[in-house]
Amino acid sequence: MTDLSTTVYYDDDADVSTLEDETVAVLGYGSQGHAHALNLHESGVDVVVGLREDSSSRAEATEAGLRVETPDVAAAEADRVVMLVPDTIQPAVYEAIEDGLEAGDTLQFAHGFNIHYGQIEPAEGVDVTMVAPKSPGHLVRRTYERGEGTPGLIAIYQDATGDAKAESLAYAKAIGCTRAGVIETTFQEEVETDLFGEQAVLCGGVTEMVKVGFETLVDAGYAPEMAYFECLNELKLIVDLMYEGGHMGMWNSVSDTAEYGGLTRGEEVIDREGMERILEEVQNGEFAREWITENQTNRPSYKQYRDAEQSHQIEEVGGELRKLFAWGDDEQAAEEAPAD
Ligand code: NAD
Ligand code: MG
Ligand code: MG
Ligand code: MG
Ligand code: MG
Repeated sequence: MTDLSTTVYYDDDADVSTLEDETVAVLGYGSQGHAHALNLHESGVDVVVGLREDSSSRAEATEAGLRVETPDVAAAEADRVVMLVPDTIQPAVYEAIEDGLEAGDTLQFAHGFNIHYGQIEPAEGVDVTMVAPKSPGHLVRRTYERGEGTPGLIAIYQDATGDAKAESLAYAKAIGCTRAGVIETTFQEEVETDLFGEQAVLCGGVTEMVKVGFETLVDAGYAPEMAYFECLNELKLIVDLMYEGGHMGMWNSVSDTAEYGGLTRGEEVIDREGMERILEEVQNGEFAREWITENQTNRPSYKQYRDAEQSHQIEEVGGELRKLFAWGDDEQAAEEAPAD
């Protein structure tokens, strides 16, 4: 019945014992790092966590039964080094661990930015791969503990050993991803679709649409509280319907009036050429250069944009309303409780 353009890999397509002779160094113990390290450990893979001497995560990782070393020591010992520190810090961390990567070792990422835009250039003899759960780390961990998993991607940038794909699938299995399904992509495709999606649709597009919708109503004299509910709060209900049943699931659940109004008016709020420009700047590296420079100069624009966002009226109104109303809290708690 399925008609996908790509193969989906499941547990039967992967063999964790492929990693049995390896030591895996997980660098970082944040969202992804803690989930990968704990899931690997419980899947029987030999793990060492790489953290700075002064890292506040050291105690947590040790208490969870994991071995902790500094990133350079962990990488030297390991056969597979998994870069799970923030993307903007990875080039500096790479300099510190580079000597620990011997020919035949693997350098593995969960996002391809630094490889794709040439910020990290590993030696030829090293396998360079990606195993990227399509999910925040706490879900990678929580679903694994329940015997489930989150979907994931694998990608091979450099296959010096010839084992890169089998080992990537084994790793994906060890962190639970093949329980849900894994597809193969390339570093280029992962990076370009990820950046485009977060800029044009998920993070940038949605917040801008909510903000301008809110401003349009408030400027026309409607109550900011009404504008907040209509443009921001209700968004979750709509997104939940889309998540469960796609666009048709959502259209079928809202009123015919909402459906007709939405279908006829939606197009008017979207700037298709703007979206194409965003994609072009991702593809030609302009966005990457801007963001790299921004980070090298202490993030002057980032701070300005952030301050403007923080002082927007929608934040003020929302902060007050979220204090007064307890909606969603119970539902959230129920969702996050263990499934048993
Ligand atoms: P994070 O910000 O949650 O955690 C980073 C961790 O790195 C910190 O907790 C700390 O332990 C460590 N760290 C910070 N500075 C360090 C340094 N100088 N030296 C050593 N360790 C240091 O990061 P994250 O969100 O888990 O992202 C890690 C990678 O996973 C990134 O490449 C990201 O793009 C990718 N990714 C993240 C998600 C997600 O939902 N968070 C999803 C898919 C892929
Ligand atoms: Mg090594
Ligand atoms: Mg190997
Ligand atoms: Mg991203
Ligand atoms: Mg309505």
